[in-house]
Amino acid sequence: MPASLWPPAPRCVDVALDVPLFRTFAYRVPAEMAWPIAAGTRVLVPFRNRTAIGICLGETEPPAGVTLKALRAGGDDTPSLPAPLLHTARWIADWYAAPLGLTVRAMLPAALLQPGAAVPASRTQRMVHLVQELPSLLQREQTFARATQQRAVYELLEAQGGAASLESLRTQAGCSAGVFTAMVKRGLIAVRDESVPRDPFAARAGVAPPPHPSPAQRAAIDAILAGDPGQVFLLHGITGSGKTLVYIEVLREVLRTQGRTAIVLVPEIALTSQTVDRFRGAFGNDVAVLHSGLSDGERFDAWQALRRGERRIAVGARSALFAPLEQVGVVIVDEEHESSYKQSETPRYHAREAAIVRARAEGALVVLGSATPSLESWERADRGQAVRLTLPDRAAGAQLPPVQLVDMRSAVKEALASRAPQAPYDPLLRVFSPVLLAAIESRLTRGEQSLLLLNRRGFAAFVQCHGCGDVQVCPHCSISLTYHRVPESLVCHYCQHHADVPSSCARCGHATLQRRGLGTQQVEKLVAERFPEARIARMDVDTTSGKWAHTQILDRVGRQEVDILLGTQMIAKGLDFPNVTLVGVVDADTGLNLPDFRASERTFQLLSQVAGRAGRGPKGGEVIVQTRMPQAHAVTHALTHDFVGFVHEELGARRHPAYPPFVHLANVMVSGVHQGATAAAATAAAEWVTQLMRRQGLRDLVLVGPAPCPIDRIKDRWRWHFLLKSSQPRLMTRVARYVAERCPVPADSGLRLVVDRDPVSLL
Ligand code: ADP
Ligand code: ZN
Repeated sequence: MPASLWPPAPRCVDVALDVPLFRTFAYRVPAEMAWPIAAGTRVLVPFRNRTAIGICLGETEPPAGVTLKALRAGGDDTPSLPAPLLHTARWIADWYAAPLGLTVRAMLPAALLQPGAAVPASRTQRMVHLVQELPSLLQREQTFARATQQRAVYELLEAQGGAASLESLRTQAGCSAGVFTAMVKRGLIAVRDESVPRDPFAARAGVAPPPHPSPAQRAAIDAILAGDPGQVFLLHGITGSGKTLVYIEVLREVLRTQGRTAIVLVPEIALTSQTVDRFRGAFGNDVAVLHSGLSDGERFDAWQALRRGERRIAVGARSALFAPLEQVGVVIVDEEHESSYKQSETPRYHAREAAIVRARAEGALVVLGSATPSLESWERADRGQAVRLTLPDRAAGAQLPPVQLVDMRSAVKEALASRAPQAPYDPLLRVFSPVLLAAIESRLTRGEQSLLLLNRRGFAAFVQCHGCGDVQVCPHCSISLTYHRVPESLVCHYCQHHADVPSSCARCGHATLQRRGLGTQQVEKLVAERFPEARIARMDVDTTSGKWAHTQILDRVGRQEVDILLGTQMIAKGLDFPNVTLVGVVDADTGLNLPDFRASERTFQLLSQVAGRAGRGPKGGEVIVQTRMPQAHAVTHALTHDFVGFVHEELGARRHPAYPPFVHLANVMVSGVHQGATAAAATAAAEWVTQLMRRQGLRDLVLVGPAPCPIDRIKDRWRWHFLLKSSQPRLMTRVARYVAERCPVPADSGLRLVVDRDPVSLL
């Protein structure tokens, strides 16, 4: 039929724009522009007196009675968001009740959506590097006999991973340039101009994977490759079972034989450099490593290389899921239980769940791997929505290490009682059991390495007045200030507020303030004093502020330049060092009493994962866990490496009252600067939802609360919340969206309402 018999088709497209509104925008496409405009391509539109870049969502009917504005320019040659990614964007916006425009923005490199945004040129900065490492206390005391300022600079530098800008160091140490000159002369440090940022991954050598999979690995690889498009596999392989080789062999097949591409998600690139090196060792330049250290320009380059097919494997954290690859054949989510896969700002998506959605749209396989799978994934397999595969043994004949439990309640009592009568008070006795000390000592004698876990950074968790018991709290948050020794100050771990350490109590004037609650800095000091010849490295947020500090510390451990690596949960993630034969958990209880239904699950995962770092080589290994709660099921099951036993017990506890995975959860948080107004707004919002439930007869929806959040004030904002629970995902989607979009909060008073679906933290 000749086209001219028909009225000209209304040329009109729907566009997603980077604005926090739950709507999209229709634009007219002028006659001179090419038509149709493919969904997922960028378009240039007039918006609020400026020109904005949006993403075309497809053709739409022009709304009646409205004069539409016209596109300024339209359509790249290839879509920035190919169909499966656009599908994923819509799913994320829908499921997590997020505006589609903000979701789309989160999926694309910033440079793509900012017209004329200058790609930041690399700047140069004067950097100070540690040249001579003095990891033992003994060496340090000899080197800095009277040079206290030099020692201060040295320790500051060390605390920042061995490199820092000259400017920041001088401010922190408050010393003259002469100190630095003297240290350069002594060969302790080097100062040079450097361009920042650099991409250290580009320069790293890959590590060749083991040549032959074991029969168990082979069986898992074959099962995965025989999967139907979109099928989800849960690879439950104990620590050291060789999950990485399974991923690599699956990728090899998908790339070489099927000619498709792959996405590998890891919890955090800086902490998983060993795993990344193995992928690079197997696939070389086919791998694009997407990490937070990339500049906007570098990120854009990596994105383009993937889109053009120059690299076929994207490896990265959460957002690597949005790599613009086509023909994706497999998506791997390593350490799928990690909570860092959940984004903590809009869109609050969980990368594991979004990975499954994208993979379905691509017809790709999904492999979720972990030694301690999340209860959500475990239950998914129980329901038949994922195929469970098991690697029950460690690779290459290694054994899981025996775990010994030390009850610190009796251990401390005994140690104190058996002291010599005149012995001075020794704080070490309260922190380390004789068993753990002896174990560390024997490792030092044998030239083997130890890991010590304490999941609390700083020196002391809080400072308390000896007279009135008053605790120093952050002026902006409902949380006590943590005492830090290098540099000395009180720090809020939520808002980074720094305060000087007072010499007396502000409330009662009492002169002595006690430092209570153990932190990693204190453990470091105690260990250094007890083993002055040991080479110690500490890994926590404070020593890894430099972008590549993690990798530098881990590389030193790998070269066996460190005898004792101590740190927070950072040291529990995926490390594979055969010479580590001892893992000591200084205090297993730090996370057990948090008011969060996942407290036990997190503790079990942390203990199992850190225990899994021991005994990976032929020398074997052992684990010593110190606790004051030896009966907690998170602890008892970790002792026997009994994941299934733990899950069984924990799933039981999640049924009544119902918690995930048995129910869908949304955390509705209301925050504001005035305490009373925040409470009132949260109460009104909860009442509004209750009315809605009543009006609509929503029976399968439960509202719990409202109540102040466990941490009821952060960064000067008061926080209240209530929980919504439902066993019906569709109902939850509707309600969450309705609440996010419509629930009235007085806008003028700075109140905010946030809906966090499938929250990973309720604090
Ligand atoms: P997981 O991630 O499951 O904890 P890794 O993938 O880190 O375990 O593997 C643990 C160690 O076992 C690594 O050093 C790896 O090189 C080695 N390994 C894995 N598979 C094999 C194999 N088939 N033969 C020999 N060594 C292996
Ligand atoms: Zn604070």
